[in-house]
Amino acid sequence: MLFTWQNRTNQLIEIQPIFSSPNPEQPNSEPPIGFNILVTPTSRFAMDGNGFHVGYETVTYKWIAYSKRELGIAGLPYLLSSWVVNPNEFEIESKDLPDEEEPIHQDDCEFKDDPDSFDNCDCAEFWNGYYPPDDDFFYQEIHSILESTNWVEAEFDPDTREWTLGYTSFNVNEYQTNQDYADSCNQDDGMPSFGSYC
Ligand SMILES: [Zn+2]
Repeated sequence: MLFTWQNRTNQLIEIQPIFSSPNPEQPNSEPPIGFNILVTPTSRFAMDGNGFHVGYETVTYKWIAYSKRELGIAGLPYLLSSWVVNPNEFEIESKDLPDEEEPIHQDDCEFKDDPDSFDNCDCAEFWNGYYPPDDDFFYQEIHSILESTNWVEAEFDPDTREWTLGYTSFNVNEYQTNQDYADSCNQDDGMPSFGSYC
């Protein structure tokens, strides 16, 4: 299970709260019920069959962070992290790919006056234009990224009574003695990247 995504160089990560309100024009005052985590790894250099650069393949993948309270998951304090993500549960959110290139006849083809038919010649067979990879290719790419990811782990310092998880920290002493700190922690409720530092 994944608690915090550690950013790799050049990866674009966007976190969007999911609200239960069906009307986005009237967001309710309820806290988010989850988060969409949209990850766009570095754009791939796309080439055609002849090795010519034809553009970039940019794919955005989506994970969903669920509430640990809702799922009944204990373990780390909720105020450190109240959300959980299964790294193996993701989908392709969007793809921005170069246009697929249609085959063309070779210069010396006797059927080149008919650009839509390749029934009578073998030009299409030897055509090396770009065509987009299928989704399996992109799933494999993200799997290899996941395998090489350094997952951050939560740590507890018994001397300072401070929990740390990546860039997030939560001090138990402070929480028990400082009302303002406790209020801000409760307000944020262990959300990722929202509000003050808890
Ligand atoms: Zn031809």
